[in-house]
Amino acid sequence: MTFTDVVRYFSRLDRDVIPREKYSDMRIVLLGAPGSGKGTQAKRLEAEYRTPQVSTGDLLRAAVAAGTPLGKQAKAAMDAGDLVTDEIVLGIIRERLAQPDAQAGFILDGFPRNAAQAEALEAVLAELGAPLDTAVLMDVDFDILMKRLTGRRTCSLTGKVLNVYFSPQADIDACIRAGGELIKRDDDNEETIGNRLNVYQQQTAPLIEYYRRQGKLVTVSAEGEIDAVYRRLVESIKGLRS
Ligand code: AMP
Repeated sequence: MTFTDVVRYFSRLDRDVIPREKYSDMRIVLLGAPGSGKGTQAKRLEAEYRTPQVSTGDLLRAAVAAGTPLGKQAKAAMDAGDLVTDEIVLGIIRERLAQPDAQAGFILDGFPRNAAQAEALEAVLAELGAPLDTAVLMDVDFDILMKRLTGRRTCSLTGKVLNVYFSPQADIDACIRAGGELIKRDDDNEETIGNRLNVYQQQTAPLIEYYRRQGKLVTVSAEGEIDAVYRRLVESIKGLRS
């Protein structure tokens, strides 16, 4: 038995203690503009269904924070709100999807972001005989996106994502009272935000049509309360649960 087999064995055991109806092998992509709530909703799906959130943005930020060569290469593009090269992102995603916890399913958040990435993903999954089930488009009006991005903060203590315009004051106060700080992501400044939305429009939005043609697209209104969006999201992928 190799080390990987051992890890796999234990991750299966972990999954077996989850009630059957809460156990899912879904392979989904969350599509949507920056600020559409993909990360927030993916984390909730992960917690409820034990299907890992795979966020290329989080993986890249971790590489930057750790100062790895890959992080150093990615940093300039991220700071400008441009896409990191496909070569780097595909390398990261291949490695992440090969981990034991992603073998039964995954929630892709922020990947794919252009046609070349979508095609590469399709090829990798075809090789594994595990095609994508669904691409969920998180649909949000442009003005709301701007407020979500400029107002977004992360609590330094809990990692909870908050928004100075939309979060209940009690949640914001709780972070500060506990000694936390409200941290703004480096790329959540107005200049970079404009470019990120532009890049989304030019390069990522065409994937909506790509998945629609494959009959895999579902659209969820991602405006309003986080709980309400989550309920709509769960409803839209209900058929995927085993
Ligand atoms: P996100 O957290 O998904 O908004 O990603 C933050 C930044 O990481 C983006 O603005 C890009 O610079 C980079 N990034 C994340 N995912 C990708 C991807 N799939 N392809 C290229 N760049 C990405």
